[in-house]
Amino acid sequence: MNDINNLTSEQAIALEEKHGAHNYHPLPVVLNKGEGVYVWDVEGNKYYDFLSSYSAVNQGHCHPRIVGKLVEQAQTLTLTSRAFYNNTLGIYEKFVTEYFGFDKVLPMNTGAEAVETAIKISRKWGYEKKGIPANQAKIVVCENNFHGRTVTIISASNDPVATNGFGPFTPGLVSIPYNDISALENVLQDENVAAFLVEPIQGEAGVYVPADDYIQKAYDLCKSKNVLFVADEVQTGIARTGKMLAVDHSNVKPDMLILGKAISGGTMPVSAVLANDEIMSVMTPGVHGSTFGGNPIANVVAMEALKVVKDEGLEENAQILGELFRSEIEKMISKYDLISLVRGKGLLNAIVINDEEESSTAWNICMKLKENGLLAKPTHGNIIRFAPPLVMTKDELMECVEIIDKTISEYSV
Ligand SMILES: *Cc1c(COP(=O)(O)O)cnc(C)c1O
Repeated sequence: MNDINNLTSEQAIALEEKHGAHNYHPLPVVLNKGEGVYVWDVEGNKYYDFLSSYSAVNQGHCHPRIVGKLVEQAQTLTLTSRAFYNNTLGIYEKFVTEYFGFDKVLPMNTGAEAVETAIKISRKWGYEKKGIPANQAKIVVCENNFHGRTVTIISASNDPVATNGFGPFTPGLVSIPYNDISALENVLQDENVAAFLVEPIQGEAGVYVPADDYIQKAYDLCKSKNVLFVADEVQTGIARTGKMLAVDHSNVKPDMLILGKAISGGTMPVSAVLANDEIMSVMTPGVHGSTFGGNPIANVVAMEALKVVKDEGLEENAQILGELFRSEIEKMISKYDLISLVRGKGLLNAIVINDEEESSTAWNICMKLKENGLLAKPTHGNIIRFAPPLVMTKDELMECVEIIDKTISEYSV
């Protein structure tokens, strides 16, 4: 019998290999504990977490306030479905809409579900409010986007790994280059465009930060054409980039805001779509839903996770530590040929490794980083994303900088 309390790394990996679908290629480290910026493997080795579960644990692992609410609610009431009211949903909805400044929220569970929801709302708004002829609505997306894994969402993807073998695809999604205002201007000539769905920084693509004025100009163009500006902030939101939302850097308020990941502090799947009444009113009883969406545990957990972000000043911390991190990496770039570039905002950063995109250098560096006590993962080929929990201190960050420097210097020789 395998016991979760005494399993070696080899045993845990072998079990997944044999019994799980092979739809992931994890770094070979088996974790069994997390606290703040640290995780531990089953052999007791301690690591800095520099991925934060793809920016879901911005508040740090097992934050006591968030976990406290989770446990308390789990012992009281876990699920009612939306067939009945419960005492937590309205309070959460009031809280989250005031927090982000929208009239209404539609609660879902995963990021992909929230994106799907936003696409459905955009289409329905297009028909009912904008007057697009039936079944003609188009949603504009950007090349190299990542919005999740459902069939409709991968229909918006140009990544062959995500799409090959999964057709036929959902029609009505038009792709344009990212960070290209004239491409957007051209595509918006089409009066059947209902929405522009965009990541303010492309996370999975390798932390691509667009030009400073891109988001503002894109928003203005959408407004001039009566097109919804829909921001996917599943990865960039909740203080990750040094402001509550990445669009806050551009002073833009999206028509629809999609949140996930860190809205629960990484404790459970919680996602949300926020919009004002003019848009959200297209959703009427029965047209959309989710058994677990807006469940009592999710509601209290999300409220606490969002309070923690403000109470602990995570926006400012991400801003300050992000600047420090990039300036330290710049120093390494001038010392070592192995790194060619650092980019990012706040604590969402990536380095580009000076090697072929298909090379295994980035993966090998991540293996060495692991041996030195820091966990990070390549995104696309030669890019490594660095996104630690936002509760990190300056001293801890500098220790991580040392680990990265040591790893790169040893790799160079
Ligand atoms: C992770 C992510 C999603 C999908 O979220 P899941 O919870 O994995 O479905 C959507 N959009 C962006 C920008 C993401 O980073």
